Amino acid sequence: MIFVNSSIRQSVNVKVSAEFVTSAAGAGDFPRDRLAEVALVGRSNVGKSSLINALVKQQVARTSAAPGKTRLANFYRVQRGPARALYLVDLPGYGYARGQTRGPQGSAPQEREFSRLTDEYFSRCGADLHGPRISIAVFLLVDARHPGLASDLDAWDWLKSQPCARGVVATKADKLTRAERTRHGQKLESLFDVPVPLVSAQTGEGLEELWKVIATINRTAP
Ligand code: GDP
Repeated sequence: MIFVNSSIRQSVNVKVSAEFVTSAAGAGDFPRDRLAEVALVGRSNVGKSSLINALVKQQVARTSAAPGKTRLANFYRVQRGPARALYLVDLPGYGYARGQTRGPQGSAPQEREFSRLTDEYFSRCGADLHGPRISIAVFLLVDARHPGLASDLDAWDWLKSQPCARGVVATKADKLTRAERTRHGQKLESLFDVPVPLVSAQTGEGLEELWKVIATINRTAP
């Protein structure tokens, strides 16, 4: 579990540098320098690229409009303030979602490719048997307007079976009414059974809190 209760502070002016490093199609393409990794997973269009761009305050991640982008794991090397560099990783849209109705046998070839890539990615969370461990944490992004979509709950069940630290983040909070903020916030926390921070790539809400969680992951990396 990643999240602990923490107060939201106003954004401070910390310098962030970020660069696109690689689009990985499989394990052979993953970076080997063992920096901590924070991966974002979620349905296509949930706001993964926008969140990365908002966190680093520059247009480093390509949004869904870029052809082919969603089939690969995109690695961005990020350094914030004096902290050690880490990777933010944008994982493909649906490879992790394998409920009973989405089994690999019944899946389209493209979806099996997604599954292979994400399987290879997540297998590195428990890699300490074969070498020094890499610190990998995974955030499942869900759209704050639609709490409890079956595909999101499937993805969370699947993530819980993986050996990675994990958390849930609700995107597009700027699109909620005040009443929805309360109602959806409570529903999300009860469905996922963890604190679910609301964030907005558009207004910057929740990003400072998310950076604090990322900093903790990075500090505790081996
Ligand atoms: P991805 O497929 O998960 O990488 O999603 P994108 O980052 O490409 O975002 C999909 C769409 O949602 C784009 O049109 C974004 O402009 C929009 N979007 C993403 N984040 C936010 C947000 O926080 N607020 C609002 N209003 N729109 C957002």
